[in-house]
Amino acid sequence: MIKLSNISKSFGQNQVLKSVDMTVNKGEVVVILGPSGSGKTTLLRCLNYLEKPNSGEIVIGDYRVDCKHTTKKEIHALRQKSAMVFQQYNLFKHKTALDNVMEGLVIVKKMPKEEAKARSVALLEKVGLGEKLDSYPSQLSGGQQQRVGIARALALEPEVILFDEPTSALDPELVGEVLTVIRNIAKEGITMIVVTHEMGFARDVANHVVFMDGGMIVEEGTPEQIFHHPKEDRTKQFLKRIT
Ligand code: ADP
Repeated sequence: MIKLSNISKSFGQNQVLKSVDMTVNKGEVVVILGPSGSGKTTLLRCLNYLEKPNSGEIVIGDYRVDCKHTTKKEIHALRQKSAMVFQQYNLFKHKTALDNVMEGLVIVKKMPKEEAKARSVALLEKVGLGEKLDSYPSQLSGGQQQRVGIARALALEPEVILFDEPTSALDPELVGEVLTVIRNIAKEGITMIVVTHEMGFARDVANHVVFMDGGMIVEEGTPEQIFHHPKEDRTKQFLKRIT
C-alpha cells in the first residue's frame, strides 16, 4: 500500500538517498535501522514531503506522485496521508496537550470543534494522559510530551505513522513508557514506519526490518532474518556494534 520507487535526494553535493525502493504493506510495522547519517530520517521526511525528493515516485494507497513534477495540491494531499512523530516532539509550546492534539483536526481536517475535542480527549486517555489535558508541554516530562505527539499523529487517522527515533531525546527511565504506547498501537494494525536504535523493541514490534547504510537499503527481511541471520557484512558489523 506504500511504495517508494527510485527515491533520490541530495543536499548540495551530498547524495543522501541513492535510488531507494521500499514497499510497506497495510498494517505492517517496518523498522528502519542503520548507522547515523545513513539517510533514515531523510527517507521518512521524503515520504511526508518535509523534504522534496529530487526524483522517484511515491505511492500511498491509490495516490501516486512523480517527485520531479509535484504540484502544491499534490504535496498537500500527500502530506495528509502520513503523520510524523518527531525526535524532539515538536509540540506547540503555548498550547495545552489537548489543543496540540486538536489543532490538526480543526485546522487541517476542518472538523467541528466539539467532535475534535472528543476525539482528542479519547486519544490522550489512550496514551495515559487523561489527567494532563490542560497541561502545557513545559509542565510535562519528555515521555509525556512524546505521548502527546503520538496522540496528535493518531488523531489525524493517517494511512501511515512515521516515527523518527521517537525515544532518542528521552532520559533512559522514560523510554519504556513511550515504547509501550507504540507497541500497543502496533497491535491495532496501524501501518507504521519506525526509525529506532532500540534493538529489543525493534525485534518485538517489527514485521519487516530494513537496514540502510550510505543512502541505500543494504538488506531487508523479517526480524529473524536480519537479527539472527544477516547476510551482508555491513549489517553484521552494525548489529555487533549496537547490541
Ligand atoms: P540518519 O537519520 O540515518 O542519521 P539523516 O537522514 O539524518 O541520517 O542524514 C543523512 C545525511 O544527510 C547526513 O550526512 C546529514 O548531514 C545530511 N542532511 C540531512 N538533512 C540535511 C539538511 N537539511 N541539509 C543538509 N544536509 C542534510
